Amino acid sequence: MNIILMGPPGAGKGTQAERIAKNFGLLHVSTGDMFREAVKEGTAMGKKAKEYMDKGTLVPDEIVVGIVKERLSKPDAADGVLLDGFPRTVEQAEALDEVLRELGLKLDAVLSVDVDEEELVTRLTGRRVCSNCGTTYHIKFNPPKVRNICDHCGSELYQRSDDTVETVKERLDVYKKQTFPLIEYYKRKGLFQSIDGNQDIEQVFDVVSAYLKKLESKA
Ligand code: ADP
Ligand code: AMP
Repeated sequence: MNIILMGPPGAGKGTQAERIAKNFGLLHVSTGDMFREAVKEGTAMGKKAKEYMDKGTLVPDEIVVGIVKERLSKPDAADGVLLDGFPRTVEQAEALDEVLRELGLKLDAVLSVDVDEEELVTRLTGRRVCSNCGTTYHIKFNPPKVRNICDHCGSELYQRSDDTVETVKERLDVYKKQTFPLIEYYKRKGLFQSIDGNQDIEQVFDVVSAYLKKLESKA
């Protein structure tokens, strides 16, 4: 099963992706995580990507498509992939179609987690991430057991530099202008499914899970 998880920044894609990947045995491919890794490692690509990430704008399509193509070409991607945060433009979606065709893979569904804008700002500004394993928390909605410490690995949590109110506004604008057209693109292909993300984490997961189980049983 190859699935795209889309939705505005802060909708809960990463949170759901972690659970979906584990429960459905899919490889979680997050372009945001890949860029943050490259920034941490200080690679040339990471330095370039950081310029855009800090402003809340999109990294150019050719860079994003390049890293996704490389990742999907590895053998472990053949058993099912969950794409999180990619594609984000129609050009990226067209490039993905081409990559999947070359690799003999097919897309099964595009799930869009939809959340009200006001809630997105609250979710993003309260997000905290583990500096070691990347697990995502929220200071109010999904706090760690010990303040600022990861439940899984005991490392310190940090706030993403792009989770400030100003950058969040820009990222939401970018989503509306550049990513929104993808909804039509995937509706035309009969792959689009909207998920109500205005519920708590477990409730959203139950809805997604039921949808994917149905999809699996049809395959
Ligand atoms: P995205 O990957 O879409 O940007 P995240 O999964 O990182 O979003 O979630 C953004 C923030 O909102 C995180 O702090 C996360 O803990 C929190 N969160 C995710 N899903 C929910 C939910 N259903 N209800 C409340 N908070 C949530
Ligand atoms: P995310 O972790 O998905 O919120 O992404 C963080 C940032 O990484 C975005 O604001 C973009 O600057 C960059 N990014 C992630 N995925 C993409 C993509 N598919 N296309 C362009 N830029 C991306």
